[in-house]
Amino acid sequence: MRDLFRLDGKRALITGGTRGIGRAITELFLELGALPCVVARDTVLLNERLKEWRGICMDVHGIAADVSLKKDRDLVVAELGALWDRLDILIHCAGTNIRKHSTEYDADEYDRIQQTNAVPVFELSRRLHSLLRSAGDSSIVTIGSTAGLRTVPTGAPYAMSKAALDHLTRYLAVEWAPDGIRVNSVAPWYIRTPLVEGVLSDEAYLARVLERTPLRRIGEAPEVAATVAFLCSPAASYITGQTIAVDGGFMAQGL
Ligand code: NDP
Repeated sequence: MRDLFRLDGKRALITGGTRGIGRAITELFLELGALPCVVARDTVLLNERLKEWRGICMDVHGIAADVSLKKDRDLVVAELGALWDRLDILIHCAGTNIRKHSTEYDADEYDRIQQTNAVPVFELSRRLHSLLRSAGDSSIVTIGSTAGLRTVPTGAPYAMSKAALDHLTRYLAVEWAPDGIRVNSVAPWYIRTPLVEGVLSDEAYLARVLERTPLRRIGEAPEVAATVAFLCSPAASYITGQTIAVDGGFMAQGL
């Protein structure tokens, strides 16, 4: 069988790779033969995960950094440059949400959401462009959200940040196609992770979500990871500039 779906030897930077969707991506990448470098803030958890993953592959790395801070992004770029002379895969998965109605946000909360979800995707992508170009055939995948494509009851600043990522995906895909860099985005609907534990523990809200989800269940992190891995694999060599929803049919649901 051809290795259309393998990622053997691919050097992959994954922001937010210690929990939820990012963790599932890291673990699937390891299974598919990639060499991950994971970025997250919580050093204790990062070290725990690295210890576990080094049982599978010794060539796995971690950088403790907050992607919302310029000084930490500088650190990521410097450490990665010292580690590798090329980057095959860049996954932007770190993200946060504060669920409120629009009149309830203060300026700091709005800022924190944009600085975590949107700004680092632009900044890290462009600052890692030369390493990505050096790979000759590389791939960026950004984790957006169906909230960037449709409305939900709260979280306008989060939805704005995710909608921005979809359009940035199209821009970078076109601008960087001549450099051999494909750029795509994955838009999950509700996926069972620590980020949405709180909102899904509200049974009435969960029932509303399921009623609007044709597959009638919440998604699981490995289901998002599989789509991300596909987009980074040779099987997706002619796909760039796309946003793919992993949503149990939510986007297709009409009346
Ligand atoms: P989790 O909260 O489960 O995990 C978030 C990960 O990102 C953790 O590893 C966390 O580690 C890291 N992280 C968060 N903020 C930062 C930061 N400032 N700098 C570096 N690392 C950071 O979230 P999910 O797995 O649920 O979400 C992952 C992505 O998927 C997000 O972009 C989210 O918006 C998106 N998404 C999720 C959906 C869902 O239903 N779960 C639906 C649609 C989109 P640490 O705290 O140690 O920094």
